[in-house]
Amino acid sequence: MTSLSIPSSLPLAGKVALVTGGSRSIGAAIAKRLATDGARVAITYFGSPAKAAEVVAAIETTGGKAIAIQADAGDAAAVRAAVAKVVADFGALDILVNNAGIAQGGGPIEQISFEDYQRMIAVNVTGVFVATQEAARHMGQGGRIIHIGSSMTRYASFPGASLYTLTKGAVTGFNRSLTRDLGPRGITVNTVHPGPTDTDMNPADGALAQLVGPGMAIGRYGLASEVAHVVAFLASPGAALVTGADVVADGGFTA
Ligand code: NDP
Repeated sequence: MTSLSIPSSLPLAGKVALVTGGSRSIGAAIAKRLATDGARVAITYFGSPAKAAEVVAAIETTGGKAIAIQADAGDAAAVRAAVAKVVADFGALDILVNNAGIAQGGGPIEQISFEDYQRMIAVNVTGVFVATQEAARHMGQGGRIIHIGSSMTRYASFPGASLYTLTKGAVTGFNRSLTRDLGPRGITVNTVHPGPTDTDMNPADGALAQLVGPGMAIGRYGLASEVAHVVAFLASPGAALVTGADVVADGGFTA
């Protein structure tokens, strides 16, 4: 008897995604959203194993498939091992979301410690480079690489964020050139730039919100789930023509 296979209508059915820093906030929202769209999802985490387990459980509760891998984005060997585990467990890697990021070393340029500089470069830049390089070695036609940048690369609305912006600017430039390397393989590379978004890093009722909140054209902070919608579009087959883009999802903060 011939069995009929009914194609799933979910846009990411059959795809495998890796979201770095997926245990909390924007990364967790992205992981859940990609799973809702049909992808099997791996997340990395560093300091929040319980939160990572919650994200996996939430995805599995709705019938999805997910794994969590402890991997410090600032540790190249750990990042390589994480990508290898995704490919070993799920048999492929189609979508990489470079979300893991930190914001330490804020303050006047004269006062930033070299230790903070090195850690920021390690997590926000080296982690992105290594994950992208490893993923590119495994991705086939139609792969998707999405970095989470920042609206700070477009508009520095307050002082003391030069180190953070340096790291996000590096990713933005990296992405632009990657377009030429990976385009011939049908792999798109894009950077999503959130503006102020309500997360553990930047709570809508936190100190930074006093400074940047009034600049939101939409009159409120962005939500992690709203950033995730944008990422989900870029990860979808329908976004094949969008590559090398800086996609701003900032509620008009930099408009
Ligand atoms: P949060 O601090 O709220 O969450 C960060 C996530 O990244 C957590 O899951 C954390 O996991 C993970 N993470 C942090 N350090 C590491 C590491 N060394 N290795 C692996 N995972 C790590 O941040 P947001 O969700 O707010 O930010 C996510 C991204 O969006 C970042 O790149 C940030 O720069 C960017 N962004 C955020 C904006 C905002 O207003 N919130 C605005 C613009 C950009 P764990 O706890 O397990 O370590």
